[in-house]
Amino acid sequence: MNTLPQMLTVTDHNRGFIDMTYVYPVVSRRAGGVSVGINLNPNNACNWHCAYCQVPGLVRGAAPEIDLELLETELRSFLHALLHGSFMEEHVPVEARVIRDIAFSGNGEPTSSKAFAEIVERVIVMRDAAGLVDVPIRLITNGSLIDRPYVQTALKALAAAGGEVWFKFDAGTAADIQRINGIDVNPETHARRLALCASLCPTWVQTCMFRWDGELPSRELVSNYIAMLELAGLAALKGVHLYGVARPSFQPEALHLQQLSAHELKAIARQLNEKGLTLTVSP
Ligand code: SF4
Repeated sequence: MNTLPQMLTVTDHNRGFIDMTYVYPVVSRRAGGVSVGINLNPNNACNWHCAYCQVPGLVRGAAPEIDLELLETELRSFLHALLHGSFMEEHVPVEARVIRDIAFSGNGEPTSSKAFAEIVERVIVMRDAAGLVDVPIRLITNGSLIDRPYVQTALKALAAAGGEVWFKFDAGTAADIQRINGIDVNPETHARRLALCASLCPTWVQTCMFRWDGELPSRELVSNYIAMLELAGLAALKGVHLYGVARPSFQPEALHLQQLSAHELKAIARQLNEKGLTLTVSP
């Protein structure tokens, strides 16, 4: 799944919002606010198959046709509930009663929706109409479809609206990417996509690290990964969100994965820091 692991989804309140098709609330004390999630993959379909993916029943595929009117209705009503209803009071701790972001982050790859550019435009309009111009819109993506013209159109619109991208990059060799992300891709190709993405919209890299069958990420794995970020161009990146596997994977590969300690993750973060990258670390 594309969300970061520290998020605590509201699961036992307010069925009306939980039962929406595309929009879901995520309340995070740690991140200090409410994230308005937009899931364009209610069919649990992704073109990747990451070993750590938290989507139950994940299948290969693309987003289904999106009911744009329903998406608009859900987003408008949820923003209204946050701003003018009792949602915050009833479900959000006092210290987290702010809208942190609107995030395209769901049960698959959001940019696989052919309507993605139109959806981004509509979400920007609705955000602004709700008086939330300063709330950032984030795209959490595996970055595999950046070459598609409609995705580039959406990225430019996101950038103009103050948004940003979190772009998945976990390893720097084809073999490691195949093992971790379940996809056959040349790492140089993915680095070029990252560079293209960063040229169109402010971009963070999101990277998940863990033990595999008890083994730490090797020095070689980390240095190959850093080499790919260098190939993309470190100066163009906002930084790296480095995180571990705090929540269980729902994939068969889960049995290979073990969480790194905070100390182990920080050791990897130091190597990235030495390259001058800004880091956030979430074990
Ligand atoms: S990119 Fe990976 S983690 Fe994200 S939804 Fe697809 S398979 Fe899951």
